[in-house]
Amino acid sequence: MSIERMSAEELLGVDKFNVDEGEAHIVVKCECCLECSDKPCLYICPAQCYKLLDGKLAFDYVGCLECGTCRLACRQLGNSGVATWTYPRGTFGVSYRCG
Ligand code: SF4
Ligand code: SF4
Repeated sequence: MSIERMSAEELLGVDKFNVDEGEAHIVVKCECCLECSDKPCLYICPAQCYKLLDGKLAFDYVGCLECGTCRLACRQLGNSGVATWTYPRGTFGVSYRCG
């Protein structure tokens, strides 16, 4: 018996999201990102919620996997007051349906 491996894209495709349109669980005030030269968030987010648009950082919490990686990688998130990281309110956010 062999077990078929799924790609990361296939695994992400079966996740279900209940997006909280009324309250973002991660807030990035992108003006502070102008000072951030390395921008690790662009490389470490598995859901690619962080993007560069016209040279400026853009963030969208839709599709966030709640992994917490950006909270660890970004000096502004979670402890500075200029950006916030938390989990979505109850019943909102990602549901993992495979694994
Ligand atoms: S790592 Fe943090 S401060 Fe730097 S660009 Fe990303 S969100 Fe902005
Ligand atoms: S918690 Fe994870 S998936 Fe969500 S924005 Fe941060 S790095 Fe991306």
